[in-house]
Amino acid sequence: MIPVKGYKEQKVAVLGLGRSGLATAAALQAGGAVPLLWDDSPEARAKAISEGFALTDLTRHGALEDVATLITSPGIPHLYPAPHPVIVRALDLGVPVDNDIGLFFQSAASDDWAEMETPPKVIAVTGSNGKSTTSALIHHILHESGRPTQMAGNIGKGVLSIDPPQDGEVVVLELSSYQTELARALTPDIAVFTNLSPDHLDRHGGIGGYFAAKSRLFLQGGPDRAVIGVDEVEGRFLAGQLAQGAGDDRVIRISSGQKLEGFGWAVFARKGFLAEWRRGRQVASIDLRQVKGLPGAHNHQNACAAYAACRCLGLAPKLIEAALASFAGLPHRSQLVGERDEVRFVNDSKATNVDSAAKALQAFSRIRWIAGGLGKEGGIAGLTPHLGSVVKAYLIGHSARDFALQLGNTPHEICETMARAVDRAAAEAEAGEVVLLAPAAASFDQYPNFEKRGEDFTACVQALLG
Ligand code: ADP
Repeated sequence: MIPVKGYKEQKVAVLGLGRSGLATAAALQAGGAVPLLWDDSPEARAKAISEGFALTDLTRHGALEDVATLITSPGIPHLYPAPHPVIVRALDLGVPVDNDIGLFFQSAASDDWAEMETPPKVIAVTGSNGKSTTSALIHHILHESGRPTQMAGNIGKGVLSIDPPQDGEVVVLELSSYQTELARALTPDIAVFTNLSPDHLDRHGGIGGYFAAKSRLFLQGGPDRAVIGVDEVEGRFLAGQLAQGAGDDRVIRISSGQKLEGFGWAVFARKGFLAEWRRGRQVASIDLRQVKGLPGAHNHQNACAAYAACRCLGLAPKLIEAALASFAGLPHRSQLVGERDEVRFVNDSKATNVDSAAKALQAFSRIRWIAGGLGKEGGIAGLTPHLGSVVKAYLIGHSARDFALQLGNTPHEICETMARAVDRAAAEAEAGEVVLLAPAAASFDQYPNFEKRGEDFTACVQALLG
């Protein structure tokens, strides 16, 4: 655990008692602060009590008096579509609002870092898609290279639950836009921006707010090196804002598809090969086509981002290449869960938005596509250019009928449930085809989260394959 610094004997309110909220409470206590804990959900409150915490009703008038700061969980809106009433009260009283990420950056460095041979470093990864895969890949490469490393944030543990970093250790943090928007301290050594596509627009007041939230990691934090995906205009803009001209190698541009030879430092993937270019010449090249854990151009983008971050730490290309080969991939992201009669069953339950589903549809050529759930604004209109590879769609969940209307001439069938969709798709699939779960929708209409949806798909496939 990282004890929180700067609030000794002061009251700190904690709103939201999920995994990161309870970890924050413990870390505040360890640092000598007095946490006041609240959650609107009776279940979350009961869990906090069962773990030995006391509660303070923060919604009660006067509850924020003498409070030094309010720490909130990423799921709680602090601005749009409407701030939580406790946050409104804090703003009215001038109580600063922060989150566990801000507390982490404020508290992680300790006096003994000055005595260390190689002081710990923090790599923070943000972007619309590929954050978890890129974070896990960086973590894997470091681990395989014998560097001490821990991973936290949106993936794995809460940031304040990690062990105090050791000599030479690298902490890899996956950060969402909710987290980067609010954190009052954001000072990674290396910051990574994978890509940008519309998501969570209601929470950021539109795409501009969403991009601004992610940009804070770079503009506020002033990382030593910034690894920036430049396949969208926002990434090109950010790279341009951060660099003193094209030759500035503090910014490493990455791309899946574009040749980037004219920059100070760039890593790009084309036709299955990753290339590193520095000051006008090629430094390294890696064949990604054989890397089973990273299928598709979108994963090649993740490979470029992770490669670049590890190169910033001075790892040799050969070491990184060897580690890439043994990366197994993450569950629910282009995950092969079964195969029968040359039909592959792939679980991409994490494709909760149009952009990630588009990438999944581009990664295979003949697809029996299981889609639907709680559709997002615009439904699947954005997927029209990628429907050429879809042999037939099998639609589930709340948005099934809306998606059916948007599919037009693409063959489709409304199946309602996962079990029926898997049965129907498997019965109709022919050799060489892929039964792909890539919902392009959130899972909350039928499941508690995307993991449970992916597990249900996997269980249905396994029941079928025996
Ligand atoms: P995040 O943590 O940003 O949500 P994940 O690595 O969990 O990213 O992947 C989320 C979804 O996006 C998955 O469906 C995955 O297959 C897809 N995906 C992964 N990497 C990329 C990428 N670089 N660009 C677009 N989609 C991606």
